[in-house]
Amino acid sequence: MTSPTPVPGIDDRERKPKMPVLFIGHGSPMNAIEENPFSRTWENTGRRLPRPEAVLCISAHWLTRGSVRVTAIGAPGTIHDFSGFPAELYARQYPAPGAPAFADLTRRLLGAPTSALDHVRGLDHGAWSVLGRMYPAADIPVYQLSIDYDRPPEYHYDLGRRLKPLREHGVLIVGSGNLVHNLGTARPGARPYDWAEAFDTWLVARISAGDDTAVIGFRDLGRLAALAHPTHDHFLPLLYVLGARDRADRVEFFNSAFDLGSVSMRSIQFG
Ligand code: ZN
Repeated sequence: MTSPTPVPGIDDRERKPKMPVLFIGHGSPMNAIEENPFSRTWENTGRRLPRPEAVLCISAHWLTRGSVRVTAIGAPGTIHDFSGFPAELYARQYPAPGAPAFADLTRRLLGAPTSALDHVRGLDHGAWSVLGRMYPAADIPVYQLSIDYDRPPEYHYDLGRRLKPLREHGVLIVGSGNLVHNLGTARPGARPYDWAEAFDTWLVARISAGDDTAVIGFRDLGRLAALAHPTHDHFLPLLYVLGARDRADRVEFFNSAFDLGSVSMRSIQFG
């Protein structure tokens, strides 16, 4: 492993293990407070991974248009960006510190002319519902990168590639979405729909084969892709994760199950 280039404000004197990259299927916000197989696996994942210096989350729940923003706030608030859930969920706070120095490094790595630091926004539930289980002590700095929803899939994959050096600095990159996400057809207790399983299985095959080009071109599947993702917000975080993977990374799937018939909770660790 080569030493990373020195960065102002980031202490790299100690050699850090290269961090893996995660895609987490986050599903219902209730996973933040419910004991279930998904949330238990998140807890185990936090315990078994090397301790990160910071977490960068690319969440389905922060979409911007025409720009890419990186949170650089020192003490991000907890955003309860959902409605109709129990009071206990609205009372939940995740007071992890921010990571301004890593945010600055990230913005420079992106090199995108439209990228900017954001000193206002806190953490959305795509980030804190998962990280609250992985790192319940809230003692690891967390920051987020927005998704420019005006851009095509290739753009998101390319930004993911630019994020790759963060792994050498101890940053855990977490894409938070769902491999299949169709809330219009979601039903409590429903068995997985055939099309949902078909798209999920197709993704596993393409990702296992390292065929990122096929995943980027997911819309070529036509009706199957449109059913799996009527909107692309929960799919796009996957492209950042694929961009940040290395060819040599081991691939491991976990939480490989459906919720509500049309929400794939399957998650992926690279490296
Ligand atoms: Zn979501």
